[in-house]
This record gives sequence, C-alpha cells and structure tokens, in this order.
Amino acid sequence: MSETGVRVRIAPSPTGEPHVGTAYIALFNYLFAKKHNGTFILRIEDTDATRSTPEFEQKVLDALKWCGLEWAEGPDVGGPYGPYRQSDRKHIYGEYVEKIVAAGHGFRCFCTPERLEEMRAGQRASGKQPKYDGKCLNLKAEEVKARMDAGEPSVVRMKIPAEGACEFHDGVYGDVSIPWESVDMQVLLKADGMPTYHMANVVDDHLMKITHVARGEEWLASVPKHILLYQYLGLEPPKFMHLSLMRNADKSKLSKRRNPTSISYYSALGYLPEALMNFLGLFFIQIAEGEEMMSMEQLKEKFDPESLNKAGAIFDIQKLDWLNGRWLREGISEGEFVARVLNWAQENDRFMEGMKLAQSRIERLSDLPDLAGFLLKGDLGLTADNFRRIKKTSLEDVLAVLQTSHDDLEKIFEWNTASIEEELRAISERMEKKLRDVVAPLFIAVSGSSRSLPLFDSMAILGRSVVRQRLKQAITAVKLGLEEDKKNNG
Ligand code: GLU
Repeated sequence: MSETGVRVRIAPSPTGEPHVGTAYIALFNYLFAKKHNGTFILRIEDTDATRSTPEFEQKVLDALKWCGLEWAEGPDVGGPYGPYRQSDRKHIYGEYVEKIVAAGHGFRCFCTPERLEEMRAGQRASGKQPKYDGKCLNLKAEEVKARMDAGEPSVVRMKIPAEGACEFHDGVYGDVSIPWESVDMQVLLKADGMPTYHMANVVDDHLMKITHVARGEEWLASVPKHILLYQYLGLEPPKFMHLSLMRNADKSKLSKRRNPTSISYYSALGYLPEALMNFLGLFFIQIAEGEEMMSMEQLKEKFDPESLNKAGAIFDIQKLDWLNGRWLREGISEGEFVARVLNWAQENDRFMEGMKLAQSRIERLSDLPDLAGFLLKGDLGLTADNFRRIKKTSLEDVLAVLQTSHDDLEKIFEWNTASIEEELRAISERMEKKLRDVVAPLFIAVSGSSRSLPLFDSMAILGRSVVRQRLKQAITAVKLGLEEDKKNNG
C-alpha cells in the first residue's frame, strides 16, 4: 500500500460533552495521517439514537476544531465517501446484515428484553460472565419467517465460533489472542432496524477505506467481533492500534467524577489549544527533559507510533498548567496574547450574554467585575463559610441540595436556561423544598456570591462542565466545613 493511501478516522459518538480522551485519540490519528501523508476523517457514530443529540454533535465538531485537528472529510465538509453521520447512512447497513444472515453467519433472535435480563441475572448469580445463551441460534427458517410475519419484534445476532481463539496483531499490544468463548453473540441489527455500533463501524470503516483503526484500549475486546464480521463479509480488516486510556495520577480511569474531562472545560478556563495538544502529544513521543514545549509541527516531526507503550497516559493537570503557562509566556506574541484573551472572553458569547444580564443591575461600569467576573473565573475559592451565611439553612441542607443538583443536572439533555430552570424546579419538588431554598446554595456555588446575575442564565452561559466542576468544589468545601464542625463539637 502506498503511503498516501493511509486513511484514519476519529469516530465520536455525540452522547455527551466532548471528552479530552476524544481529543487524545483524535490527535493520535491526526498525527498518524500527517506522518504518512494520509487522510484524517471525522465520522459521527450516532447509532444510539436515545443518547445522541445534535447539540453534542455540534460540540464535538467545535471542540475538535478548537484543538486545531482539522479533518479532510466529515459531516460538515463532506467528502467522497459520505454521508459521514451514521444516522444518515441507515439505508446502507441492511444489505450487509442480510448478507451475513443469508450466509448462515447471523440469526434472528426473538428473545425479549425481560428474558435476556433474567438470563443475565442467572449467569451473574452463578459467577459467569453474562452473554447470550443461544436460545434462538437454531430456530427453523419457517418458524423465523412465521414469527416475523406475525410482527414479533426481533434483532439479528452474529454467530461466534464455539471454540478456539481469535488471534490478531495490534500495533500497540502486539500479538493478541482472545478465546471465542469470551465473545458474545453480538446484536448487529436492533429491533428498530438500526445497526449497532459494531455493525455500522465495520461497514463504514470498509466503505470509507479506513486503513488503520486507532482508538482507545476499551475497544480491544471488540476486535474479535470486528475481525469476524470482516471475514463474514469477505473483506480485509484494517490494521488495529489500541491506545492506553488516560488515567488519573492514582491510575484510576479518567472520569468526570474525579477530574474535569470536557474539552470545553479547558477552553472555558483559558487553556490554549496549543498547550492541550502539546500535553496530549507528549504521550506519543519520546523526548528528553527540557524538550517538553512542542508545537504541532514539532509533534508531527517527532511522532513515532512504533514507540507507544501500554503503561497508560497520566493526566497530570499540574503539568498541563505548567505547559499552558509556558505557552502563554513564550509561545505567543504580545499582540497574539491580547487577541487570545479577547477571543476567550467572548467564547460561547459568554461576554455578550453576561453584559446583557448585567446592564439592568449596575450603577457604574466599574461594578461589572464584581457582578459578572465569575463568568470568567476558574476556581472560585469558596469555603464552607460562604454557605454558612445562607439564612435558616444548615450546612447539611446545603450539602443535600448541592449533591442532588450535581447528580440530577446530569440528566439534562439540552443545556439551556429553560431546561436548567425546569430541572431545578423538579429537584425542589423532589426534595420537598421551596425553589428559593434550592437556588440559594447554587447561587453561591456557581457565582461565589448571593447577589449576582440570574442563576439559570448564568449556569447556561457557564456551560455544563464548568457548573459541574463548581458544584464539585462547593461540595468538597461544605463537607470540609461539616467535618470541622464535628471535630469542634465532639
Ligand atoms: N464511536 C466509538 C467511540 O465513541 C468509536 C470507537 C472506534 O473508534 O471504533 O469511541
């Protein structure tokens, strides 16, 4: 294969705030494409219709653009193998599923969700890994036809060899062997006619002529299914590379429960994309001490996909802070710095929207920093004392409100003033509290003050990831206060 033939992709599912892990995998693919003079593609994998939203899709595109990772083909720019959004490709997959079934490699399964749940519970209870037990594997063709004609809902599953192992080579893990026994008879086509991730992913990688699949290690266990699907369809699989996940310093999986993981959080706090890419790029290259600061160009030069390790990439925020400081001081000119500051303040219309809300609430322009400054800040540096000032509310009550809000706000599908208000009203009802008593602690947690811009609008402007982080910081501060109280009283 000629070097120019390299085609790689990032295939995010738009089901949440774009994650720094997506930027990390995207950067690898981007650098891999550049290294081989190849093509970097963006494909939206929205087969999970209940969790995918256009809002998140737009955010993924914006976030990856902000990172500077431009794609040559994608849902927004088109390309020769489009459409690049799986929900627009629904009509494509059926024929492949049919082919697999016709060749006897797949079968209709009529098991109800209740039966499957019962089956899994039983397997778990006897210490087994839950997987499909093959009840519908050998149904007679006439029975299948009759049940389908009668309108009984069904899915298509793939057959899995009964014994042996799937052997394959991974660019990071080397030679891998996964016993078929541990592989489930994966659903390929759901009851609603939509393909599952596995089916759509394989068909699209084939049709989009993807040569190398580089993605997170969590997909390594799916490779046997994918290789089998390529085989069933008589197609050549791409080469696989499974990159170690980013982890917290204590090696636990990077998750929003612990650290902010949204790209938008880092842009909102004023990290430069150069610094974030520099930080993530260092996981893919070998450098000597003193060489840490690297532009995208330098990353491209030093990029070496052969020297990846499985040890895990530690997401060390202090290192990111240090690199960001260096980028601010050494990486951009004075003029560029000013331009960046202005750009940042206006990101997501934060400045405009904040000013609109502030206009009717100030007497002098110089009141602005105190009133609206929280829209631009990072950590508000709150302690339990800030919350003790709320009248007729104990710290325990504050903690309950903050915790419930932190958890329940995650349920919001589209983040805007109206949806935030609606959820907070619902929370106050569920907690059997007045709205005012829910809003008061949130006011302080979000804005740092009890006199501020309207709460729901402010939360909408700040965005989910910043609000989430502020609630987390407030919860930590209040818990600390409660511990102190306990010590003092006991
Ligand atoms: N849609 C999958 C994800 O969200 C893509 C995995 C892959 O690259 O195959 O991670």
